[in-house]
Amino acid sequence: MQTPLIPDDEAWAAVMARDRAFDGRFVTGVLTTGIYCRPSCSARHPRRENVRFFADGAAARAAGLRPCLRCSPDDVSRDERAVLTAIEAIKAAGQTLVLADLAQRCGYSPTHFQRVFARHTGLSPAAYARALQKERMAQALTSAESVTDAIYDAGFSGPSRFYSAAEDRLGMTPSAWTNGGRGVTIRWAVVPTSLGAMLVAATQKGVCRLSFNENESALRTRFPNAVLEQGGEAFGALLADVVAAVEAPGDFAHIPLDVKGTAFQEAVWQALRQIPLGETRSYAQIAAEVGKPGAVRAAGSANGANNVAVLIPCHRVIRSDGSLGGYAYGLEIKQQLLNKEREGSGE
Ligand SMILES: [Zn+2]
Repeated sequence: MQTPLIPDDEAWAAVMARDRAFDGRFVTGVLTTGIYCRPSCSARHPRRENVRFFADGAAARAAGLRPCLRCSPDDVSRDERAVLTAIEAIKAAGQTLVLADLAQRCGYSPTHFQRVFARHTGLSPAAYARALQKERMAQALTSAESVTDAIYDAGFSGPSRFYSAAEDRLGMTPSAWTNGGRGVTIRWAVVPTSLGAMLVAATQKGVCRLSFNENESALRTRFPNAVLEQGGEAFGALLADVVAAVEAPGDFAHIPLDVKGTAFQEAVWQALRQIPLGETRSYAQIAAEVGKPGAVRAAGSANGANNVAVLIPCHRVIRSDGSLGGYAYGLEIKQQLLNKEREGSGE
């Protein structure tokens, strides 16, 4: 392998810092002792004038030097090869491989391999596989015919695995929404779904708006002081989660939200999130649920003030007589959502 040349002063700085990121990129030959080391070797630093840098162990050996027994500089390329082999295996598998299998393929013990892999990539093999899947999902969404295709194209064995891949998302707490989003950047997109055009908008904390048949100007009216930006890489992964939650209903409690209402509204929204998939409640039941059985009308208004359709499932509230009641985006969408969820819950 051709090793790019690193300027001597940069190499020396890496040695002084014992910077592991430079391991495998050059070795440090010490002319007085006749040994060569990886840059991060923990042995006492040699004097600068006694040091010569070599592209790799072979070059150092050709100059008559021996590998240091403490830092085993020749094992670095073995580690790199193992990590590259593992990355290829993860990519080819399209799903998470068992750590022990990966390690065995590379001839390492699982614990040692986990450490080596993390040192080179900054991630555990499992986290690396998950990140790769999210990236593929975001890419697939832009080209796939349907969301279900996108989920499978991304290498998930099915929707439930897709959800579990998102479980490590940061749990976001609702943050204050004041001043029309002043000082906040909101990323957004309008994507086609089986229910029609869906607008999804999110702050760094989570989804702040999910609606149907709305465009940028509607979003701007709602958040007049926010910076609105389309798309973005991290947003793509969140968007993929949201679209999947709409197309293949399941547990979406892991998708972070950024919503703010009055204490009563938030209590109602919380109660909506407790309605199990495939079930409905009446406005009266929701009012009772939040400890204000007389406030049926107020519960209805709080339901209507919901910013994040589907993920705060206001569509699961119907009239006591069983009729659908209202829905901000039309009764047809409400009915379709409820049908999907009944099918999805296996009833
Ligand atoms: Zn050494």
